[in-house]
Amino acid sequence: MSILEISPSHVLDNVRYEIRGPLAARAYQLEHEGFDIVKLNIGNPGAFGFRMPETMRRAMIENLPGADAYCHQKGVFPAREAVVMQQQDRGVLDADAEHVFMGNGVSEMILMTMRALINPGDEVLVPAPDYPLWTASVVLHGGKAVHYRCDPQRAWQPNAADIEARITNRTRAIVIINPNNPTGAVYDRETLTAIAGLAERYKLVVLADEIYDGLTYEDAAYIPMASLVRGTLCATYSGLSKVYRACGMRVGWVSFSGERDHARKYIEALDLLVSLRLCANVPGQWAVQTALGGYQSIRDLCAPGGRLYETRQAVLDCVARSAYLELVAPRGALYAFLRVDPERLPGFDDEAFAMQLLERKHVLVCPGRSFNLDVPDYFRITLLPEAKQMREVFTRIDELLDDMAAAAAAGAGG
Ligand code: PLP
Repeated sequence: MSILEISPSHVLDNVRYEIRGPLAARAYQLEHEGFDIVKLNIGNPGAFGFRMPETMRRAMIENLPGADAYCHQKGVFPAREAVVMQQQDRGVLDADAEHVFMGNGVSEMILMTMRALINPGDEVLVPAPDYPLWTASVVLHGGKAVHYRCDPQRAWQPNAADIEARITNRTRAIVIINPNNPTGAVYDRETLTAIAGLAERYKLVVLADEIYDGLTYEDAAYIPMASLVRGTLCATYSGLSKVYRACGMRVGWVSFSGERDHARKYIEALDLLVSLRLCANVPGQWAVQTALGGYQSIRDLCAPGGRLYETRQAVLDCVARSAYLELVAPRGALYAFLRVDPERLPGFDDEAFAMQLLERKHVLVCPGRSFNLDVPDYFRITLLPEAKQMREVFTRIDELLDDMAAAAAAGAGG
């Protein structure tokens, strides 16, 4: 009897998530052969020794005896209310608990809010480069991700005129990621106001991924998109994974503000969708109130002397010394998006480089093209290692780039 091949659904044909793709699989194999791999491909704070604040753990333990039941499909009330308080403190006065949905990480809420929104052929404006789940979430549901460019010459800020030129009668929503993964950009008020104005004019839903909201460096100021959007629906996404270093708890949320009357049916559809999965992980939700209130320890990590600040500084110093690397200094989030100047290293290819860096130097990075960028000059690293380890990583990167430059020169000479 022949065995029928089990083929996957075609909806996955064009879905990509390279951050956990073949490179990561090869790194896993090497680790199982006994090699130490420095994994800079994922912003996973716990993997680099970061811990969530103790009070969050205490809050979960205190509530654990009551956490074995399903909760409301939108999440436990004190968690949702804590999100409301935070939003109101930020000037989003219309936030309310009815319009906050707790999920198993922001990831789940990205997938569900997109599922509830788009029909096949609908278009969603997504930044390039992006956090690739955003493009995937559109493609997965039959939509078309239309990429607008963020320009390194403008510190990776989006350009409202470029975005407007891409709006069609199928455009439904615009995604902004601020502070940005992968570029580390923190968008200025002028840019955000212009995008809010566009969204209002064309009645696009604003999908604002602000999971890095407390992670800014130097004088960068995070401005909540929801504080600028009035005349259309604004969805703000955040969670415990990054600012609160608790990504394994899988807690994230979306909060809707702005013009909600015309979105009533959409929000009801989302309520149906979240009901189908019953509820999000309950124990983690009990840490939300403790996390969002009071002293924010992330500030210390991002300030001079703090671990993230010092590692970022080490990256800036290493790039300044490198013969090949360029970087727009990250002003927020957990990443540096590095460029290898093709004039200095002809033929540089991000994917080939990442594979060689893994095989030969045991460092895992993400090629820039993993982020829906169409040039091969970039790669992304996370800022999570200690500064000392980061300096050591850059020694290995520069050694490899020296070898590649020598090979390129030999090739050109021969
Ligand atoms: N959005 C952005 C921009 C991210 O960088 C990440 C994770 O790296 C997520 C969403 C997903 O976060 P979560 O752990 O809450 O699912």
